Amino acid sequence: MIHIDGSHGEGGGQVLRTSLALSLVTGQPFRIENIRAGRDKPGLMRQHLTAVRAAAEIGGAKVEGDAIGSQTVTFRPRVVRPGVYHFAVGTAGSATLVLQTVLPALLTAPEPSELTLEGGTHNPWAPPFDFLQKCFLPLVERMGPRVSAELDQYGFFPAGGGCFRIHIEPAERLSPIDLAERGEVQARCARAIVANLSKRIAKRELNAVAKKMNWGEECFRVEEVRAACPGNVLLIEIESEAVTEVFASFGRVGVRAEAVARSAVEEARTYLAAGVPVGRYLADQLMLPFALAGGGTFRTLPLSRHARTNIDVIRRFMPDALHIEEQEDGTVQVYGAGVQDEAA
Ligand code: ATP
Repeated sequence: MIHIDGSHGEGGGQVLRTSLALSLVTGQPFRIENIRAGRDKPGLMRQHLTAVRAAAEIGGAKVEGDAIGSQTVTFRPRVVRPGVYHFAVGTAGSATLVLQTVLPALLTAPEPSELTLEGGTHNPWAPPFDFLQKCFLPLVERMGPRVSAELDQYGFFPAGGGCFRIHIEPAERLSPIDLAERGEVQARCARAIVANLSKRIAKRELNAVAKKMNWGEECFRVEEVRAACPGNVLLIEIESEAVTEVFASFGRVGVRAEAVARSAVEEARTYLAAGVPVGRYLADQLMLPFALAGGGTFRTLPLSRHARTNIDVIRRFMPDALHIEEQEDGTVQVYGAGVQDEAA
């Protein structure tokens, strides 16, 4: 039984989700204590509880401690069963993070799977659906499996009510890929999405992006969508030869449209200036598939505390899975197992 301290590093929900994902893939049981001890409201929230139960259903696992607010969970997986599943967070909690928990095990399962996930689809501090569809999943597909994603309904905080479907055609194993270079930028766009809010908000956000980015008019799009409550997200998408990166910023009451734009623009500019293919959030999400592929490499920005915590948790289940090398220019090269000696 692996013992995980949920207060380690960043002490957030990622420690739990990565443990669940790797427990399913490797078959190793674990016990986690101090779940989300680093957060204001520690313990399992709706999103994390849904992730625990989803992982348990898929892995036929025996679970203790699966209750709201619980700070200790014991998880003993049996066999991963691909198939048709429906997981609902029941609040605006992120459904994309529930997917993050169960996807790895289904990528190399013996049969295809069809998942329906309900909850938040566009949440701050979680991968927006568009990031999954355009950035993360295409890279997973390059590793072998086929994974398609369809959004049925947007889900914003506080009402949630979003829904998307994922179809997985697994591969026998994940193949290593090389993301050392970004290559030329081939396309770019900024999409300002509003639900139950004035289009003027979206236009102001795009105007603010346009002032900072020297892009043609065709790069800017206002999209009005249906959702159970008001919602607004600004997405900056940068497609290069190696990868499509998606940077998101969320509208909130009391935050000016220009400030929403500034935050997404800053992220996109930092990424563009560094010349790396893999941005900050993509980096922490690629750690696990690269560990499972047992090879391959990617280059990214200096690692966030979140990413470092994630590496530590991955190493508890797969001790030699990742090698990290800090470069002189401040960028970081990440290697799947056995490719390079660790220099950092
Ligand atoms: P808590 O830490 O409160 O438990 P949590 O479980 O919701 O929160 P974190 O542990 O902070 O979440 O993990 C957030 C995940 O969402 C990470 O995988 C991170 O890469 C991803 N993420 C956050 N913001 C973005 C974004 N703008 N684009 C893509 N991915 C994002």
